[in-house]
Amino acid sequence: MSAGQDIPDDHPAQCAACHAPGEHLSPVEPGLDTGGISLLACDRCGSVTMWPQPDKDYTAHAGSETELRDYVEMNCSIHDITKAVMPAVMATGAKRYLDVGCGFGFSLDIVRRLAGCDVVGIEPAHYGRAGRDLLGVPVLPDVLSGPPGARTPPELSRPFDVIFASEVIEHVSDPGAFLETLSAYLAPDGMLALTTPRAAAVTEAHTRNEKLAVISPGAHVFLYSAAAFEAALRQAGFPHVVVIESGVTQMAYAARVPFSFPEISPGALTTQYLQSALETDTPREPVSTVLQCRLYRSLIEQAQWEAASSLDRDIEIRMAPQDINFADYDAFLAKFRASEPSLSYLRGILYLVHERRRVDAHHWFMSSFRLCCAKLQIAPSVCAVEADMVWRALFHAALSARHSGDRELAARTWRIAEERAGADFLPDISEELRERADRELKLSGG
Ligand SMILES: [Zn+2]
Ligand SMILES: [Zn+2]
Repeated sequence: MSAGQDIPDDHPAQCAACHAPGEHLSPVEPGLDTGGISLLACDRCGSVTMWPQPDKDYTAHAGSETELRDYVEMNCSIHDITKAVMPAVMATGAKRYLDVGCGFGFSLDIVRRLAGCDVVGIEPAHYGRAGRDLLGVPVLPDVLSGPPGARTPPELSRPFDVIFASEVIEHVSDPGAFLETLSAYLAPDGMLALTTPRAAAVTEAHTRNEKLAVISPGAHVFLYSAAAFEAALRQAGFPHVVVIESGVTQMAYAARVPFSFPEISPGALTTQYLQSALETDTPREPVSTVLQCRLYRSLIEQAQWEAASSLDRDIEIRMAPQDINFADYDAFLAKFRASEPSLSYLRGILYLVHERRRVDAHHWFMSSFRLCCAKLQIAPSVCAVEADMVWRALFHAALSARHSGDRELAARTWRIAEERAGADFLPDISEELRERADRELKLSGG
């Protein structure tokens, strides 16, 4: 065992998840710099306790305009929120909905519009205030400090049918008490819907940024194993629990009464939500434009070509010039939206697949490629989508050229990938995309 893997001298007295005594904890190596934070896995429940334990004041989190724009324009997934909350809302026939740690408050707007629920959000960070002003959703700038009592705000005084808390519990030093607090606000036949990063993700093969988000050194107190997550919910008085693991995260639904989920289509519900939001004037600029862009994405991803074509005429997407360079992400956002690399790509898809405007499609894919490169260079930590899209954009640019009969341009375009993949800040080309390029571009031979 190397020195770095020793149990810290002042090791924690117990597992933060199951309270097993300290001797059940042993260090795990995530394979990246955690800034002096030790990760201790529990041999009894499989959860990971961080040491030293962070002590962060979330009410003081100022957050920058850049972070907020990145979140709202790009990296907050409305599709994933819809997929997480709507099964619980529909299974319970919810009338009242609470989101604890609601961020900008998209879930509130989704549930309010799709299910007609009375909604409330709680968010101490500035995202909450921004969402309240721009999305027009009720957000209390606070934390949920304890069970309902004399000082409980009137908005929280009646029980809720669904309580959602996404990526919150891993920030809490006493998760058992947190679950009991949530339980105290829940109607007898209500449902908790919670997400939290998976402990196992720490030692699995994921990208560096994904792992860093899972560990969040200095912010996360512990990470639940799926078994410990389920056990904690049972312990808090919920005999009916389902935990669904997916990638680096896990989603739990918990109730005191048996439940079953209706079949839903998250993609169709997302489109429905965005269309409904855009029919009213509550989402204020710049959010209404953001939602319009997200609707465009949703329609193209679901191959609703006619609707996408008609929206295409209203959407202003900026084409990137040949040479672009930005000092930092602020400078990028001064010229482009956070989602502009994706929007350029989607317009390329629409033109190539549906409108058969292959020359235009080529230009939009090239624009997407240049914007992906620029963003990957200055802001890699927010570029999970772009890291995957950069070579697909170039491939589709080459494919558009090939379909328009310009084999020379197709070859020249794909050569950029051969030359630059894996160099500097650019990722490698996936094996799957290489094979596709061989098969569909047909650049070698006759
Ligand atoms: Zn444990
Ligand atoms: Zn977190």
